[in-house]
Amino acid sequence: MNLIILEPGDFQSPASEPIPVATIRGRRLQHVLEVHRAEVGDALKVGLLNGEIGEGKVLRRDEQGITLEIALHRAPPPPLPLTLILALPRPKMLKRTIQHATALGVKKLYLINSYRVEKSYWQSPWLAEDQLREQCLLGLEQAVDTTMPQLELRKRFKPFVEDELPAIAADSVRLVAHPVTDTPCPVDIRQQTTLAVGPEGGFIPYEVEKLQEVGFLPVHLGPRILRVETALPVLLSRLFPAT
Ligand code: SAM
Repeated sequence: MNLIILEPGDFQSPASEPIPVATIRGRRLQHVLEVHRAEVGDALKVGLLNGEIGEGKVLRRDEQGITLEIALHRAPPPPLPLTLILALPRPKMLKRTIQHATALGVKKLYLINSYRVEKSYWQSPWLAEDQLREQCLLGLEQAVDTTMPQLELRKRFKPFVEDELPAIAADSVRLVAHPVTDTPCPVDIRQQTTLAVGPEGGFIPYEVEKLQEVGFLPVHLGPRILRVETALPVLLSRLFPAT
């Protein structure tokens, strides 16, 4: 946890007060007690969810909570200019992939069905709104960011691609990561991009064709076939190198 993310309910007075005071409990408290071992007077890096980042000076600490005097003064890092379309991964990989995508700066993510997504994955408790939110929070805490990504679930591939995707991807570079193609993934494009990433078994040819019909270009990352959780950071760091 490189950032303690505060929510409006943590504040004892509105976050807009001259010297706001907030109390953290639960998982964040445990982390600060066990890992930071913060004492009264220490400063912790804090951020307001969907708001600014700054410091929290420890005013009081006990087993029930740590009370911080909050000073926020800088914006979170800029989002990636990206909409990610991701075939729903298996539940264990879903958690890690959501965390990684969030930590990498993805702010708009569609989890979609695909022929090789097992139906049972859609029943996973990890798809519940609060569970997805928790994985996003872990990614934000890791990356020192506060802007919560928007996640959408789409259980039908064809209507999504035909009816929604053209508007979602309008005015953006459209790429589908696909190992079986001749075009290498572009580097450092820095333009608004919509990127589709397939399931563990890959997109079937029909799905790649449907994506091509709405303007997606299949691109590869070289001869090695990578797991989704590995392919994603490689794709994003290639398309949008750190500045
Ligand atoms: N056998 C599958 C295939 O050939 O498509 C492999 C799927 S791979 C495990 C899962 C997804 O990660 C792919 O659908 C693709 O989106 C992405 N991916 C993995 N390795 C890739 C590579 N070398 N080039 C482009 N995309 C890749």
